Amino acid sequence: MKTEEVIQAEANYVVQTYVRPPLVFERGAGMYLFDSDGRRYLDFAAGIAVTALGHSDPEWAQAVADQAGKLVHVSNLYHTAPQAALAERLVTHSFADRVFFCNSGAEANEAAIKFARKYAQAAGAGAKTQIVAFSGGFHGRTVGALSVTHKAQYREPFAPLMPGVTFAPFNDADAAAAAINDATCAVIVEPVQGEGGVRPATAEFLQALRALCNRHGALLIFDEVQCGLGRTGRLWAHQAYGVIPDIMTLAKPLAGGLPIGATLVTQAVAAALQPGDHGSTFAAGPLVCRAAQVVFDRVSRPEFLAQVRANGAYLRHRLETLESEAIVEVRGAGLLLGVELATAVAPIITAARAQGLILINAGTDVLRIAPPLIVGRAEIDAAVDILATCLAAGA
Ligand code: PLP
Repeated sequence: MKTEEVIQAEANYVVQTYVRPPLVFERGAGMYLFDSDGRRYLDFAAGIAVTALGHSDPEWAQAVADQAGKLVHVSNLYHTAPQAALAERLVTHSFADRVFFCNSGAEANEAAIKFARKYAQAAGAGAKTQIVAFSGGFHGRTVGALSVTHKAQYREPFAPLMPGVTFAPFNDADAAAAAINDATCAVIVEPVQGEGGVRPATAEFLQALRALCNRHGALLIFDEVQCGLGRTGRLWAHQAYGVIPDIMTLAKPLAGGLPIGATLVTQAVAAALQPGDHGSTFAAGPLVCRAAQVVFDRVSRPEFLAQVRANGAYLRHRLETLESEAIVEVRGAGLLLGVELATAVAPIITAARAQGLILINAGTDVLRIAPPLIVGRAEIDAAVDILATCLAAGA
């Protein structure tokens, strides 16, 4: 299919829920993507914070090819070694005692919500069903995850959603104290908000949430779907805060681009769940779990994480020292940075793409910078130089 034919077929046959630029990606290698006309793009979006090892990492590709030739799917009716090995890695490197696997971030949050309700019910607290979420929070598009996602534009067309959700302002401990009570079964928060504009939580806020959850017997859920697994320069974003959740959700980078989600829980939460309470046909099949082992083993190395912190600091410094009137603020953590502009970011993203740089937004006025975690200084310099040109031209 020629480029125009692909674009036309998408317009004709795919439900139109996405707005895509008129280019077709054909292959990727490391930090670069190549379109159907052979043009090369420096990827500073990583498929929305997914391809942590870059595109088609040789070790990852070899593991996937090897496993594809051996065994891909048997369902969760049977044991498979890659699933068990991945679960062991996640548990031994986190606060959690057990993991439930699924296929996406939204599903990981669905599981977290169900588990919190079941935990409260198992404790005999029948009326304890309320969930507190926060302004700017994004947790996914399925009905439960959407119900705790703040943006009205995403939620309202699908009302009525799941009842029992209260939103409180993000980073406001007093407002959280007013919202959380004995009817609260869970509080869900991103330690670093992604879609909501790349906004880190303050330490005081997360500490206050932990104390409020303890006081009211509610579970604290950290959604680390976007900020987890090395993106902030720590294995888990919450490690920078010294606050430990009861449940943590993961997805995006975990299998390096293949679909996976994970809901990590303490033994107390796991003990409330019985066979039949939740499940998935595809979750954590041998193929995705072999791929995830490669990602996990590389990203969890202390040297790898130190490199993410160093490169994140360098990228941040380069962005903070850009001389542009358009920049309002640079914020974020590690290699998840947001550049808030005084103007809409869409024209800057288009102009950067024309110069061979892939960027994405987080809302209308924030550029989200989330390259593969393997990014180096030369690529950071190249990307920031293109961005500087676009900002100077007022794109
Ligand atoms: N939670 C967070 C913090 C996210 O950023 C996202 C996706 O952007 C999700 C959940 C939903 O993940 P998915 O798109 O895999 O369902």
